[in-house]
Order: sequence, then structure tokens, then C-alpha cells
Amino acid sequence: MTKLPGDSETLDRERARLEEERVRLEEELAHLREDMQQEVDIEPDEGDPVFFEREKSAALMAVLERRLQDTNHALRALEKGEYGICERCNNPIEPERLEVKPDATMCLNCQREVEAVNRRNRVRRTVDRW
Ligand SMILES: [Zn+2]
Repeated sequence: MTKLPGDSETLDRERARLEEERVRLEEELAHLREDMQQEVDIEPDEGDPVFFEREKSAALMAVLERRLQDTNHALRALEKGEYGICERCNNPIEPERLEVKPDATMCLNCQREVEAVNRRNRVRRTVDRW
């Protein structure tokens, strides 16, 4: 059994922080969804400011949803006593990293690798479009 970062007091604090974050993200998402629904009657053309607004909202929603997923994931891990364990390599996540990003599900190394792969994919997609 890998040692968990921090004592139970630290874990309680992390849980409170994660739950707060989850509520905040859910509220923000609900707001964005509302905005999007209100604009549903408008059929904006490309180049229209509304079009860009919608694109921006959609992009923001994707980011928030991803964060919400991470937060829920971290909360579940906390319940199972697996909080702070990297889901990719099963090593403990750096405590300093959890301090700044309590919903981290991967250690710094794995996160960097995954992000590098994502970046490459994104570049390729952009190229495909042109
Ligand atoms: Zn890892």
C-alpha cells in the first residue's frame, strides 16, 4: 500500500476544497448553459461577434467540464483512499503539486507527457483543417 500524502486532517481539508471547487464549477457551467440556450434562436454567421461569443463559451465549457471531471475523480479517489496516487503510473503525486492543484490525477511527469501528446494532436488537427 502506497503511503498517502498527508494525514487525515490534510485529506479532510482537501475534500472540503474539492467539494467547494465542484460546486463552483457546476454553477459556472449552469450559467454558461443558460447563456447558450438563450442564444439558440440566433443563427449567427461566421465573423459575427455572437458566433465568436458562442465559440468562446463552448471552449470554456469544455475546459470547465474537464476540470469538473478531474475534481469528481479526485473526490472518488479520496473516498477510496487512493487520493494523491497517479492514475497513469500509480506513484504518489508530489504533495507540492496537490497543494496548488488538489484535483490533480496524475503526477507531474505523466501530466507533462500527456500534455505534450495533446499539443501534438492539436497541432495536427489545425493543420488538417487548412
Ligand atoms: Zn505518473
